[in-house]
Amino acid sequence: MNIMVKTKPFSLPPLPYDEDALAPVISERTMGFHYGKHHRAYVEHLNEFVMGTPLAEMKLDDIVKKTFMDAGKKNIFNNAAQAWNHTFFWACLTPHGGKPSGELANAIERDLGGYAKFKHDFVHTGVAQFGSGWVWLVADKGKLAIESTPDAVTPMAQGKRCILAVDVWEHAYYLDYQDQREEFLKAVSEKLLNWDFARQNFERSG
Ligand code: MN
Repeated sequence: MNIMVKTKPFSLPPLPYDEDALAPVISERTMGFHYGKHHRAYVEHLNEFVMGTPLAEMKLDDIVKKTFMDAGKKNIFNNAAQAWNHTFFWACLTPHGGKPSGELANAIERDLGGYAKFKHDFVHTGVAQFGSGWVWLVADKGKLAIESTPDAVTPMAQGKRCILAVDVWEHAYYLDYQDQREEFLKAVSEKLLNWDFARQNFERSG
C-alpha cells in the first residue's frame, strides 16, 4: 500500500501579537473572526484551488503576480492575494504605534506634505474606496503615494512596493465601529500603525 501524505502548500501564519493586543482599537472579538475565520478561509480556499497544480510549488507572492488580471484564475488570485494582504496587514499593526522616522519621515514630508496630511489623506482615501478593499501607502520608484484598491487587488501585483496597508472590508471594523469606517481608520492610523515595519519596507525599496 502506497500512502502519500501531501502537506498543504500554504498555512496560516501566526499573528505577530495576541488577539487581544490591539484592543480597544481593534477588539479581540474582531481579531478572532478576522484572523481566525476570514484569513484562515483565504488560505484554505487557496490550498483547495492549487493542490496538485504547478502553482502549489510556487511562493505566495509569485502566485499573486502570476494570476493577477488572469480572468480564468480569478478565484486563485482573490484567495492568494487576500492571504498575502492579510499577513502584510497584521505586520502593519502594533500595540505600540508610533510615528514615521528616518528617511521615511523625510519622504512623507517631500511626497505627501507631512505626517498630519498623510494621516488625513490615508483615512479619506480609505473612506472613499467604494465597497470592499484596502488603503495603501506605497512606493513606486522611490516616490510615496497613497492608493486604494478594490476587493483583493494589491499594489504588490502591480510592481509597487507596499509600505503600509489597512483593510477596509466591513469584516475589519463592523463589530467594533458598525458603519463608521472613518472612525476605524482614524483610530488605527493614530494608534496602531507599525512605523518600524513601514520604514523597513521603504528602505528596502531602493
Ligand atoms: Mn480582511
